[in-house]
Amino acid sequence: MTMTQNAGDGSLFGVVDVGGTKIVAGIATEGEILATEKIPTEVMGGADAVTARIAGAIRSVQAQLGLEGRPLAGVGVSVPGPLDTALGIVSFTPNLHWVDYPVAARLSAALDGVPVYIDDDANCAGQGEAAFGAGVDYAHQVYLTISTGIGGAVIVDGRIDRGFRDAAGEVGHMTILPGGPDCLCGNSGCLEAIASGTAIARRARQLMIQGQDPTLARLTGGDPERVTAPMVFEAAASGDVLCQTVLDDVANYLGIALANIVMVLNPQAIILGGGVMEQAEVLLPLIDRRMRMHLIKVQREGLVLKRAALGDNSGLMGALQLVRRRRVSAASGDVS
Ligand SMILES: [Zn+2]
Repeated sequence: MTMTQNAGDGSLFGVVDVGGTKIVAGIATEGEILATEKIPTEVMGGADAVTARIAGAIRSVQAQLGLEGRPLAGVGVSVPGPLDTALGIVSFTPNLHWVDYPVAARLSAALDGVPVYIDDDANCAGQGEAAFGAGVDYAHQVYLTISTGIGGAVIVDGRIDRGFRDAAGEVGHMTILPGGPDCLCGNSGCLEAIASGTAIARRARQLMIQGQDPTLARLTGGDPERVTAPMVFEAAASGDVLCQTVLDDVANYLGIALANIVMVLNPQAIILGGGVMEQAEVLLPLIDRRMRMHLIKVQREGLVLKRAALGDNSGLMGALQLVRRRRVSAASGDVS
């Protein structure tokens, strides 16, 4: 995989995208990821073992490129949060079983003291899109990833806004439907609980269990457990009215959520990524219409709603943007 932008000063960076099942680690220049290696996360071995394998993957890619003698200027890591970006500590990540784990310090120690910077996966994906993808033209933008869950990143004046304690941008946990389905965060009626890929499949499954949906019954061979979000889109496209209603509701919830975000932040662009956006052709126009219904003229005008452009690479490109930016900040004494 290669992406070229900005010639840079010849520095080399490590970039890492840590997920619950797989990790991608690579070596990059200022504007281009030169090569990557994918390894299974293997959470059960413990956090230090994961860190050691990340360091191993970075060294392995460096060797493949014939660059093992070249020092790294820094390493950027995209990791599920919540976390503390200043201390480099992941506070709590259920998927990885990490609790207060100082991943930046441990990875730095495993890589001969190279500075390591971390940010949560949604912030990284948002920064990746802003620096290299669908958001390059906008100083004020909000990124949402709509996948098994829903995460977000707020970019104001070209900079990620992390809030008071690194907890800004939790768009998936805005209450959109009071009294709605329970959410993993402990609340109920959150956007994530009613508009994520998981929520779409769950809602359709309920319809099928109630015996109301012959299309889904056919697509799943009669087993409600096999209902997936893409099946709901397929059924809707084939004219299934119930599945069309599920998607209309999802677009409505997302439209309300985005309108609320626009009311507060007045962004130029909203970028939507994640697996559910593989159905952007169907979903994006519906969401756009619903969102605009709730906005006032000055916010509506010029506002762009777009699909993310980097796909699975957004997190890794965001890790690159993170380390580039933190290195510049460190050099200039600017700690923001
Ligand atoms: Zn929630």
